[in-house]
Amino acid sequence: MLDRLGLYEHRVVMHVHSRYSDGSGEPQRIVEEAQRAGVDVLWLTDHDTRRALEVPGAGYYGHLLLLVGAEITPPTNHYLALGQIRLIAPTESLQTVIDHVAAEGGLGFIAHPDDPGNRTARLPSYRWTDRGVDGFAGLEIWNHLSDWSRSVTSIPAGLMALRRPHRRLSANPKTLALWDALGQARRVVGIGGADAHAAVVGKWPLRLTIFPYRTSFKGIRTHVYTENPLPANWLEAETLLMDAMARGRVAVVNAGVGEELGFRLWAEHPHEPLVAIGGEACWNQGYRVKGLAPVPVRWEIWHDGQLTGRMEGTLCDWPVAAPGVWRVVLRRGRADEVWIYSNPIYMR
Ligand SMILES: [Zn+2]
Ligand SMILES: [Zn+2]
Repeated sequence: MLDRLGLYEHRVVMHVHSRYSDGSGEPQRIVEEAQRAGVDVLWLTDHDTRRALEVPGAGYYGHLLLLVGAEITPPTNHYLALGQIRLIAPTESLQTVIDHVAAEGGLGFIAHPDDPGNRTARLPSYRWTDRGVDGFAGLEIWNHLSDWSRSVTSIPAGLMALRRPHRRLSANPKTLALWDALGQARRVVGIGGADAHAAVVGKWPLRLTIFPYRTSFKGIRTHVYTENPLPANWLEAETLLMDAMARGRVAVVNAGVGEELGFRLWAEHPHEPLVAIGGEACWNQGYRVKGLAPVPVRWEIWHDGQLTGRMEGTLCDWPVAAPGVWRVVLRRGRADEVWIYSNPIYMR
């Protein structure tokens, strides 16, 4: 089975904080760390500022594309805003923030919707409380910091998680259930965030950096699939990436489990056009979900929030038996860890 889509895949690290807000790193150093981590695009999202546009400035640094969004941060209801937008005060209501970002031509995502906070690490919860809103492009379905907070229930568990920061992670089942439910009404794009701060705690010689940038960049990534290679002009490249994201052409990948490119997902029917990952189509009998993986994996096929099938190997081929929200989860390795969450294909 061949990849029938012919899309270009980009490794994007999303949701990163620098010295311009509460991250510990100079933006220029963060860029170098991203280059060393082998990612294609670094999207800085400092709290309520896009100062990184001035220094070091958006654009290409070797093969790495640096883009500058922001995380709009009231006490709860954090919102990741991408694109060439003017920022809005975090004191506005979430719906006002969402509408503003959309009106400016930006793309917005509800950050860490079920962030639990953590008593051991004394982190408050920054969860999404204002759930009556609409008009956002999607949800951050997997956030490394929230996921870590959820699993760390004691100091030894926290230290263990710091030593092996990307092992045995998985997105919050509550967030995934919410995502599947919201997808019933419209496309809701799922992205993954590093939420990298490289926070430094303690004092020398007992100083500890919680997830240095390069460590974070080897974790939760957002792979974006575009129809063309990234243009040399960074503004055009940003537009191409944002268009693809708005269409749900996104997979959320834990690079700590595997860094390979090559995962693809689409739906196929003998008499209908192909439906790419994130796409919507009018359901009829005969559609099949098709998937490709670069290494053998265990596939889970999810329909409307229910696990409905399993396959093994590099190929997935499953009948779309009914309308609804169809997505796959890829697991691999002896521990059967989650490697990839696909965005859904919507059969209406
Ligand atoms: Zn946040
Ligand atoms: Zn953040």
